[in-house]
Amino acid sequence: MIVCKFGGTSVGDAAAIRRLSRIVQTRAPARPVVVVSALAGVTNQLLALVDAPDPARIAELIERHLDTANELGIADELAADFRRTGTELSGVLCAVDRRGPREALLDAVASCGELWSSRLVATALAADRLPTEWVDIRPVMVTDDRFTRATPDFAALRTLAPTCFGPLLEAGKVPVTQGFIGATSAGIPTTLGRGGSDYTASLLGAALAADRVEIWTDVDGIMTADPRIVPTARSLRFASDVEAAELAAFG
Ligand code: ASP
Ligand code: MG
Repeated sequence: MIVCKFGGTSVGDAAAIRRLSRIVQTRAPARPVVVVSALAGVTNQLLALVDAPDPARIAELIERHLDTANELGIADELAADFRRTGTELSGVLCAVDRRGPREALLDAVASCGELWSSRLVATALAADRLPTEWVDIRPVMVTDDRFTRATPDFAALRTLAPTCFGPLLEAGKVPVTQGFIGATSAGIPTTLGRGGSDYTASLLGAALAADRVEIWTDVDGIMTADPRIVPTARSLRFASDVEAAELAAFG
């Protein structure tokens, strides 16, 4: 089996999700588990809501997901669900008496992005006749309670991931799940830190003994530097794991 992870820009709009679907179809014989990030920009928008709750902004976020679903012809299946989660989110954020530590709230709110995007992608793939199954990663990705940068319990994942994904893969299903998010053993939502979806994909790949982990993104490969900062950055033809780790360490 393999793990295919798609970042925010790779699920950012209907055209991107159509591309994603074609990619996953070509991977079907390799038995993919699909891991997705939130739609581009959504995590930032969600986090901003924690300090400035605004029902209109929440409604806009829900509408963006539903517009994308509409373009993909799958809005009917998702509308009720998305609207309900939007109302729940408003309830949590606009409650007069918000309980618990701020960091825990940040994670609970940020989690919505991946939960929405994974629903969207799972439904889009199903509409393209892939035998998709949406999987909630949170009971599988058990973490400590360092909210906003929680550490996963890899020993637990190594037991829980095969139990959760194994039967689905055996049955020929294409599981679609979330990057970035997890939960404590008590079931309280956590996140693995910003950009954490790649980490989720790698952890799942290791726990499931995947043949490979594919990180689909909006640049052509591993580059010599971040192209947003260094305009002359170029893609490397080859990079060893040591070189890749070194580049990662430099951000
Ligand atoms: N959506 C999360 C973030 O923006 C995780 C990720 O994209 O990898 O940080
Ligand atoms: Mg990323």
